Amino acid sequence: MSERRIYADHAATTAVSDEVLQEILPYFQEHFGNPSSIYGRGRENERAIIDARKRVANVLGAQPNEIFFTAGGSESDNWAIKGVADKLSEKGKKHIITSAFEHHAVLHTCEFLEKHGFEITYLPVSPEGLIDPQQVEDAIREDTALVTIMYANNEIGTIQPIPEIGAICKKNGVLFHTDAVQAIGNVPVNVKAQNIDLLSLSGHKFHAPKGIGVLYVRRGIQLSNLIHGGGQESGKRAGTENVPGIIGIAKALELATADIPGKIAKLTPLRDKLIDGILKIDQTRLNGDRNRRLAGNVNVSIVGIEGESLLLLLDQYGIQASSGSACTSGSLDPSHVLLSLGLAHEVAHGSLRLSFGEEFTEEDADYILEVIPQIVDRLRSMSPMWESLTQSGKRLV
Ligand SMILES: *Cc1c(COP(=O)(O)O)cnc(C)c1O
Repeated sequence: MSERRIYADHAATTAVSDEVLQEILPYFQEHFGNPSSIYGRGRENERAIIDARKRVANVLGAQPNEIFFTAGGSESDNWAIKGVADKLSEKGKKHIITSAFEHHAVLHTCEFLEKHGFEITYLPVSPEGLIDPQQVEDAIREDTALVTIMYANNEIGTIQPIPEIGAICKKNGVLFHTDAVQAIGNVPVNVKAQNIDLLSLSGHKFHAPKGIGVLYVRRGIQLSNLIHGGGQESGKRAGTENVPGIIGIAKALELATADIPGKIAKLTPLRDKLIDGILKIDQTRLNGDRNRRLAGNVNVSIVGIEGESLLLLLDQYGIQASSGSACTSGSLDPSHVLLSLGLAHEVAHGSLRLSFGEEFTEEDADYILEVIPQIVDRLRSMSPMWESLTQSGKRLV
């Protein structure tokens, strides 16, 4: 077992930071009141939520009454899509445009709506993992209710031309939602300047606790409730507020967006070093555009190995990472994201995602680059597929 521990799975989740933890701790015991209660203890928390809503709005370039707190990125995506679909279907708009490589919170919501009479256009993705804004425009119809395209992909880190897509949607009078869960804190996001009508965030991807999210909804947009009940969140999202989560996501959002250029400047050289180092291994490929990608994302395919085996061995060396073939549902199907790029199943199976944050160092990158070739050699030496490939001289990438 290794002494070193490198957490390279920020795209999966992050730790609550000290600053965020200190800010939210009082809300578990001292300030435990229900924000809807009439007495001081409740009122104080109501005021704390009003303040948090202002802070979130301020970061996103929105108004406080356009910010709704949810239970995370999945809920925000579900609410945005189902809420718009429900309202606009009354006007005969039953068409939605999305892409083939969205997060499952978007894709499975669209599939659900398909069963309820909606038609969905799944735009193809370029081999570099980018959506072409022209294709969005070409797909818009008279009955299009919504375009939903993610800001940055969670597996391959590619950053989509969101301001361009926003402008196209505005010009055509179609609502535009973006899942900005991975983009926030890594790309400057401004909902007004970028013509975004609805936007999803998840706290645990940027050092707030798990189970808290944000949905921005531009004023004037009609959105049906997803959660019915009490009058919280302007009557739009019932349930006693997650006060520590709300305070935490506001603080974490301010911290995450305080110095985006600084973060990019620090992480980009480390990312590029990792990419260059891994691509020195024979029969490897980078997944996703090399430059239009998150500064903390590396995604590569390594022919002749299984992603799972690689992850298990990396873990023994203290490196925690992820693979596009992660069998989340117990199936061994490769990720829909990698397949959308046109990768063959065998190539998609041997993929590795390293996603890291500000604490990542040059030493961490060096250590990863020392370990990976050793593991790859070991796995390839046991792989019948690699053996037959090398015997036939065939190359998969
Ligand atoms: C993590 C993630 C989600 C889901 O967020 P949760 O808060 O875990 O529900 C949605 N979209 C993207 C792009 C993500 O990375």
